[in-house]
Parts: sequence; C-alpha cells; structure tokens
Amino acid sequence: EPVIIPRPDHPISRSQVSPNALRVLYRLKDNGCIAYLVGGCVRDLLLGREPKDFDVATNATPNQVKRLFRNCRLVGRRFRLAHIHYQDEIIEVATFRALAPEEPEDTAPAPVSPENVPGEGERPRLPRHVVSDEGMVLRDNVFGTPEEDAVRRDFTVNALAYNIADFSIIDYANGMEDLRRGVIRTIGDPLVRFTEDPVRMLRAVRFAATLGFTVEDATWQAIRELAPAITRATAPRLYEEVLKLFLSGEGERVYQLLRQAGLFSHLFPRFSAWLDREIDGFPHSQVGKALEWADDQVGGGEPVSPPLLLALMFGEYVEERAAELADAGMPVPDAVNAAMAGFLGEQAPIIAIPQRIALAVREILLIQHRLRKIPGKRPQGVLARSCFAEALAYLRCRCAVTGEGGKILAWWERYARESVMPPVEPATGGG
Ligand code: ATP
Ligand code: MG
Repeated sequence: EPVIIPRPDHPISRSQVSPNALRVLYRLKDNGCIAYLVGGCVRDLLLGREPKDFDVATNATPNQVKRLFRNCRLVGRRFRLAHIHYQDEIIEVATFRALAPEEPEDTAPAPVSPENVPGEGERPRLPRHVVSDEGMVLRDNVFGTPEEDAVRRDFTVNALAYNIADFSIIDYANGMEDLRRGVIRTIGDPLVRFTEDPVRMLRAVRFAATLGFTVEDATWQAIRELAPAITRATAPRLYEEVLKLFLSGEGERVYQLLRQAGLFSHLFPRFSAWLDREIDGFPHSQVGKALEWADDQVGGGEPVSPPLLLALMFGEYVEERAAELADAGMPVPDAVNAAMAGFLGEQAPIIAIPQRIALAVREILLIQHRLRKIPGKRPQGVLARSCFAEALAYLRCRCAVTGEGGKILAWWERYARESVMPPVEPATGGG
C-alpha cells in the first residue's frame, strides 16, 4: 500500500519545478491523464538539491502523448519514450511500465522491424519479458501500473513520485524514511535486483558518494557478493557509468567505495593488481589524490573532460610501461603508443573506451614529454597541439599531487598566457 504524503507535510513546492516540466504535467492532467514527476528529481528536490533534469511518468501511451504536444518526439528502441522539446530543455515523458531495464534507454532511432514497431503504441506485442539463465532481464517492453512503475526502479529513494493532481508525494517503497536516514537500499531482494542488472551496483556507489549516504547492510553485502558479475554488463554501458562515477564531483569517495565493495578489481583487473603490488600504498594515494584534484575542479565549476580524467587515473600506470619500453630502446612516441594500446586492450572486454577518447589520452601523455623540456624546440608547436590545455591541466594535477614540476608548470603557464595565437583565418568582423 503506497503512503501518500499530502502537500502540507512535505517541502516540495511548484516554484522549484522547471516551468516546462509543470507545463507538461498540467497538460497531461488537464487531458485526464495521471501525471507524476518521478525518479531522481523528486529525490533531489526533497534533499534541497537542484535536479539535473525533470522526468515525468504518465498512464498515457507514447502515441497519446505525441498527440498532446506539438514539440514531441518519440525515441527509444526498447521502450518508447516521449521527449518534449523546449528551447533549452527536454522533458522526458515515460509511460508507466512494469519490470526493470537491462540497459539505459537507447535514444538512437529504432530500426524498423515488425518486432519493435509498437503499432499504435498501445500494449506491445512482445513477450512480457525475457530473463537469461543467470536471471538478467533481457527484454522489458511492457506498460504497467503506477505502482509497478515505482517498484521496478532501483533504490527506494529513487521510487518517489510527485503527483500534480494534488501536489502530494506517493511513496511506494518507504523511500521517505530512507531519504531521511540517508540510506541507499534496493527495492526488493538486493541479490535479485543486482543480478537483474549489475550496473545497479555502480549506481548504488554513485548515489552513496554523491548524496553522502550509506549503503544499507543487505544491499552492501549483496554488492560484495555479486561484484564479479559487474563484467556481465556491456562494455559501452560500463564506460558510460564509470565516467559518471568518477566525474560526479565525488570521484575520490567513489574510488574508496569501489575498492571496499570489491568492484574496482573487476572493472580494472590489471591496473588494480598493479596498484596492489606496491607495499607502501604509494600509487594508491596518487590515484586518490588525482581524483581529489579532479573533484576540486568539478566542484569549482571547471569541467574535467573524459580524456583528462582517464589520463589522471591511468597516466602513471601507462607511463611506467612506456618508460620500460623506452629504456629498452623504443622511441618515446612509439613506447607511449604501445603502452596505451596495451592498456586499452586489457580494458576492452570490460570497459569500451571510444577510439577518439583513447587518442586524446595518448596525446595528453605524449605532450608531457614535450612539456618537460623548456623551452624545447618549437614551444609554439606544443601550444598548438589539440590537447594542450588538458595536457597542462594534467601537469598542474601532477604538480599538486607530487609537489614536483613546479618550475616547468610555471614556465608553460606564463608562455601560454603571453603567446598570442596567430589568427587562423582573416577576421571577418567581430574580434
Ligand atoms: P541522476 O541525478 O544521476 O540523473 P537519477 O536518479 O535521475 O540520478 P537516472 O539514471 O537519470 O538517475 O534514472 C532515472 C530514474 O530511473 C532513477 O531515479 C531510477 O528510478 C530509474 N532507474 C535508472 N536506472 C535504473 C536501473 N538500472 N534499474 C532500475 N531503475 C533505474
Ligand atoms: Mg536523472
């Protein structure tokens, strides 16, 4: 039985909700549909944090939603979602569904096949769901009730709904209590829920780290037990989730939690073994400190790009191998190439680092060899390299972490400041 928290008994006010989300909610409601705010935005509003985005759930089918909004596009292959487009915001509207997703909604256009064209968008014709031998949910394509929609979600604090009809909060899974106590707890048996979708283990870590919550005991034990199963998630999805984890602004905390959970060594087996090989904990603290540095950047509103993050995390490891190859006589660029290729190769089955990102990481590391020589040959050539700013940020971090390289850093920062880049094209007005 869901608990209804009436408007006077909770702090969410409409003034905190994006006007576009309100427009969508009211339009659905005025047309006789159920319309809730759901997921992370309700959690964040209750915590007094600014939501990243506002998600709406409704009993209207995607095609019905499309008919209500001119600015609507239907997306998603596995499960159709409606995106309502506004100038600088997209409000996602999902039809209540049963069961849990195996993968995040894929927003690529759906290939046309009789199987995934949802006809008039009413009840899909697919089998209700398919579960693999290991209990992983493989397919999930079925509309459900508001309650089913809530309980297929991952954690109790992510299953709260805000009802536009009476401004109440609907709590199907005791999420309010867990929110008050600062607890991440799966809805239902954690062993079952993590087996259905192993990525939920990483999401538990992310929410614990970013919200400053603790992971409830049984949920934590299940993660420790099922940690090896994390590699059953697809490599592209793990890449996305690992980036989210380490760029969350709480990357250092994430790192500690992943290690304690036993997840880290399954995500990065060779790198983890390399870290563990050390006796005095030296590289550990280096990675932790590099992540703290990245957290400070993110916290200060300075974005850290994915290549810079990966360079900060794995640079020392790759550089150590490159140095071994260079000592054996290989030219430095080739040695860095080979070391990078080795690293990518060992991660590829688990975490798919896109080619273009990998190239940028390599560039950041290669530039370090040029930065060490001041002024060196053609410093303006170094300045013009595509990843120069990130390479300098990398050096800044190394310098902050190890206390070495201050002079080199100061030279390059001054040089970059004082160098006026020649215009690429004759200026066409403006400045
Ligand atoms: P964030 O602030 O990081 O966006 P969020 O809670 O909004 O956090 P999303 O990934 O945007 O997280 O997902 C939105 C909602 O969808 C979640 O709050 C949760 O209810 C549900 N959800 C997302 N991923 C899963 C999953 N793997 N299994 C079950 N439910 C999920
Ligand atoms: Mg979200």
